[in-house]
Amino acid sequence: MAPHDSITIQNARLRDRSGLFAISVDRGAIASVAEQTSAPEPSGAALDAAGGLVTESFVDAHLHLDKVFTLASLGEQALHEYQAGEMGAAMRAIETASEVKRSQDAERMLELARRTLAMAAHYGTTAVRAFADVDSKAATRGVEVLCAARDEFAGVIDVQVVAFPQDGIVREPGAADLMRRAMEAGADVVGGIPWIEHTEADMAEHINCSFDLAEAFDADVSMLLDDAGDPGLRTLETMASEALRRGRPGRALAHHCRAMQLYPDPYFERLTALLRSAEVSVVSDPHTGPLHARVSDLIDRGVNVALGQDDVSDAYYALGRANMAEVAFLGCHLLWMMHREGQDRLYDAVTVNAARAVGVTDHSLEPGHPANLVVHRCDSITDVLRFHEAPAAVISHGRLVDQAHMAEVAGIAEQ
Ligand SMILES: [Zn+2]
Repeated sequence: MAPHDSITIQNARLRDRSGLFAISVDRGAIASVAEQTSAPEPSGAALDAAGGLVTESFVDAHLHLDKVFTLASLGEQALHEYQAGEMGAAMRAIETASEVKRSQDAERMLELARRTLAMAAHYGTTAVRAFADVDSKAATRGVEVLCAARDEFAGVIDVQVVAFPQDGIVREPGAADLMRRAMEAGADVVGGIPWIEHTEADMAEHINCSFDLAEAFDADVSMLLDDAGDPGLRTLETMASEALRRGRPGRALAHHCRAMQLYPDPYFERLTALLRSAEVSVVSDPHTGPLHARVSDLIDRGVNVALGQDDVSDAYYALGRANMAEVAFLGCHLLWMMHREGQDRLYDAVTVNAARAVGVTDHSLEPGHPANLVVHRCDSITDVLRFHEAPAAVISHGRLVDQAHMAEVAGIAEQ
């Protein structure tokens, strides 16, 4: 289908209201959402939802886009280490996986990133927070490649490029300088992984460096925190208190936080109060590790939670296809959130709340808001999660996404 500047979706169902609705989209924005009282007139640019559910499009709050489809060339050693026990060898796995970066080719990386973003678009994602490693092996190559991918997909997927010091800042020689160069090269967000440093003082220093850089570029920070089976890891607390101290609430995002599952309850209660004050959202990827953040408990306490795909066939996770309905489907099982409320919460965690987490504003089906939405083939959240198939239509920035083309670039059969 050719893109239209003006589209009317007819016979749409909504999540929170019964009946059928017509949604009109004009010049990139939602113009109106109105209940259909009579059979709609056929129109040249009408899209028949045929009673399917229409919702906000998907947002992937966490994806290592520079590593996608590298598992085949890497061998399985790192994956074995990462999968061992309760993540005791997580740090060793990161070191093994790091070796591949020495020989990574920029052209090949771009091709694989393109393939993955096309998959994401085909499955209805319109915004991705994408991590690119910055270290002595990769230098700023990953950031440059992902910036090129971001430009290629402009108008289809908003890619936010995170400069990510995967091997540390204090312990990795030259990392602080490289991080600055990565931001100068066009990265949007300052990443961090403080728990990987050797001492608690170094972890605090890592967090300080990241905030300094973020302030210099007026950027947000996005950190992978406490990603191992060690209840002594407390970098989530350190990052949140630093965000408060610097007067940057809402501008620091927490990822993984798997150690949270092992925290004593009294500490968890104090921590969630701090997260609320600092407006820190938590991104969980429960399918990529044996431990995960306490998603339901966080939501109960008013903390915003998103889910991410995290990995697509790399040293940490063998599967994945950038399908956020599938990620939510996995979350239903792994987080044991099967009831209707759980399903709704997880759907929010891959749409509206994921948008909030990564700073995508006005991501809701309301007149005046940007038209980023999906038309599902089925009429309920339960069936969307059950089948997690590609939507019948995806609208990004007010235009129909060419899903057939995306499927072709992604090398998958069109649904
Ligand atoms: Zn990750």
